[in-house]
Amino acid sequence: MSVLLVHLSTNAVCCSRSFAAANRAARPYASAMARTYSPREMIDALVALPTVSRDSNLELIHFVQDYLEGHGIASRLVASDCGAKANLYASIGPEVEGGVVLSGHTDVVPVDGQPWSSDPFVVTERDGKLFGRGTCDMKGFCAIALSLVPQMTRLTRPIHLAFSYDEEVGCVGAPSMIERLKAELPEPAAVIVGEPTSMQAVTSHKGIFHFDTFVRGFEVHSSQQHRGVSAVMVAAELINWLADRQRRNAEAANPDCLMEPPFTTLHCGTVAGGTAHNITARDCQFVTDIRSLPEECPLEAFEEFAEHCREVVEPRLKAIAPSAGISFEQHAHVPGFRVDENEPAVALVRELTGANSCQEVAYAAEAGQFQQAGFSTVICGPGSIDQAHQPDEYISLDQVEAGTVFLEKLIARLSQA
Ligand SMILES: [Zn+2]
Repeated sequence: MSVLLVHLSTNAVCCSRSFAAANRAARPYASAMARTYSPREMIDALVALPTVSRDSNLELIHFVQDYLEGHGIASRLVASDCGAKANLYASIGPEVEGGVVLSGHTDVVPVDGQPWSSDPFVVTERDGKLFGRGTCDMKGFCAIALSLVPQMTRLTRPIHLAFSYDEEVGCVGAPSMIERLKAELPEPAAVIVGEPTSMQAVTSHKGIFHFDTFVRGFEVHSSQQHRGVSAVMVAAELINWLADRQRRNAEAANPDCLMEPPFTTLHCGTVAGGTAHNITARDCQFVTDIRSLPEECPLEAFEEFAEHCREVVEPRLKAIAPSAGISFEQHAHVPGFRVDENEPAVALVRELTGANSCQEVAYAAEAGQFQQAGFSTVICGPGSIDQAHQPDEYISLDQVEAGTVFLEKLIARLSQA
């Protein structure tokens, strides 16, 4: 991944043309400079900048960059390979160890085909709730943190903001930024990933690995199946293997595991293949998503599947048609996350929230990536995951308030002499 650093100054230097163009050609947010926002106003502003993962997030990143610059804070950007997206990180307060990283992702899931009651990109308040794409997952947290920046004037230990791109498509953006944070920041005491947890400390999430399987068959008339290989039939057999493996995982699940479901899942999301009812299919492909318990690596389940394909299934196909076979294309791998309840980041969050319980979640987040890089990490943020990715996604005003109080307490704590 090409890494591009832009130190925010009037002489910002870019080494990527496309990024340079996107970065500085149009910056309509100069008026945002030195403005203050309430949490609610900042949520409005961030939601109004649609950042569905498939699109660029630069408009939002530049808005944040300008806002921070207005408050005298320099941001650094780490661009995506194509230059159309960027992570942003910024440090507020003294350059010393013992600070706290507030981590959020800037992208949101699509709204296509979802029955929304109001414009998803205009925050609408109804019944004590703010509706809009990303209000809960997770522009709410980013917005509250940003709105409190003017209060961060007496910090004795720093707050580092770390906003990523492409979390929703497999936590693709964060690693290049985490690498930078590790290399450049004075060692922080904790990373708080502000995914929606209803302000509970979350100490564990699953890992993800997602891949495509391509089956190459051999076409003959369907009446002559013994001479052909139906890629569709083989794919069905392999998908059934995934279902069997998941069933065995469920049967062997540890009853003490707090995750729901408490086992590694293997899910086939899409299948495509075949030509006609009377032709053995030449091609079939399907996509698989493995979500593993934090102590298991999702790649292990993939390796087991690949070995079954190589050792058991493929020789049978090649005996009929040497051109037949099975291949894979590997995509995102997100490590699982599990920390002890005594972890410094967990202790910090519990102290600030006053809540003792810890939760484990089945969705994946960037926490595993931060943990893997050696940061003491916890997940805690406003809003409920139940509302994430839904039509009419919302965050309740109560949760906005709870998130604000939480971060105000953090600021007070990091302002102690
Ligand atoms: Zn999220």
